[in-house]
Amino acid sequence: MRWGDFIIIGMVFLLAAVLTAALAVRERGALLYAEVWQQGALVERVLLEEDTDRIIDLDGHNTIVLKGKTAVMQAADCGDQVCVRTGVLTRAGQAAVCLPNKVVLKLSGESPGVDAVSS
Ligand SMILES: [Zn+2]
Repeated sequence: MRWGDFIIIGMVFLLAAVLTAALAVRERGALLYAEVWQQGALVERVLLEEDTDRIIDLDGHNTIVLKGKTAVMQAADCGDQVCVRTGVLTRAGQAAVCLPNKVVLKLSGESPGVDAVSS
């Protein structure tokens, strides 16, 4: 575990916090994405829809299940199991972090179209 890893994870959390704040203002109609980060790099970004049904296996270390508009770290081979115990993610800004495997599963939101009110 190097300091650079902590910084990367910290930045992910910061980004999630910013997204949450932005979405709190106008959550209705926003798109929901599940993002999978590994070693500080984005490896998967999946738009979550009502009929989403997908399993992402990260080299057998972490198993992520995307179902409907939810995401969960279903299984992991890490020692602490903190990521698994985080449970089901349902809202933008939530994240399940696996520190030992350097894997982050998080939900992010994006509003469709341009915000005409603020311009
Ligand atoms: Zn873990």
